[in-house]
Amino acid sequence: MKLGFNEGCDRFCENHSVYRDLELCEQYGFDYIDIQSECLDRDLAADKYTLEDLGAWFQSHRLKMLSYNALCGFNMKATQAEKDAVVDELDEIIRRCRILGCGMIVVVPSCDIAQEATRPEIRADAVEVLRGMLSRTEPYGIRLSLEFCGAPGMTINRFEDAYAIVQEIDSPLVGVTLDQYHFNAMASGWDALEQADGRKIFIWHLNDTEDVPCGARYNTDEKRLWPGDPRGCLDHARFADTLKKIGFEGDACTLEVFRPDYYRLSQEENVRTAAQCTRAHVDRYWNHA
Ligand code: ZN
Repeated sequence: MKLGFNEGCDRFCENHSVYRDLELCEQYGFDYIDIQSECLDRDLAADKYTLEDLGAWFQSHRLKMLSYNALCGFNMKATQAEKDAVVDELDEIIRRCRILGCGMIVVVPSCDIAQEATRPEIRADAVEVLRGMLSRTEPYGIRLSLEFCGAPGMTINRFEDAYAIVQEIDSPLVGVTLDQYHFNAMASGWDALEQADGRKIFIWHLNDTEDVPCGARYNTDEKRLWPGDPRGCLDHARFADTLKKIGFEGDACTLEVFRPDYYRLSQEENVRTAAQCTRAHVDRYWNHA
């Protein structure tokens, strides 16, 4: 099992830069990084480096980019102009991925949409939109990984809904991102995960979380914790054992937290701690006999 770092962990650390994350992740032994689009956009706007600089860096180092994280709000668009904007954003992300050597794009559902919609309506829309996106990424072999998000206002907020969409599309290039925080936050069904085909789960986002109620206003990404924190409530053994049992082949365990406390660490201290936590977690829950 390889170790992954998601820039959600450190994106607001003082003087953060993506380029520095690459160096630190390589130094502290990560195999993969998920680059966050807002970090990349911020650095490119500040002229810190070019996409080509990052692409050249990856060419000469061991660290690889696991996913582009993310295209947000891809579904349930009300107007043609909104739909066109998603396609334009996807095309720009594909261009970037080809420069960075990245083979996967995480897509995140729309939140707090104006119209009311049933789950079947949302599912049908997502299948149609993702099929259209797939037609654009497929020529480059780029995969799409749908990340359900455990918030009440999210259009796709449980594992079983994301999995049903991916199952209906039935392409080896479309899968699910399983984020432990999101799974817990809206009480996704363990039965659904246990019955899933692990090959359809492309990404495993590791974290722990404070034990707060489903749907609570304050049950947000900020409640995430490094795994191993005694305040955490997640059943780590069950996540790891289930992923093993269903044949997860993603081959990476990617740490993703968004805790304001951790943004007060230096960027280096943050990445170093993240590497320790991820390695300890994998040793304890995945590599054990
Ligand atoms: Zn995630």
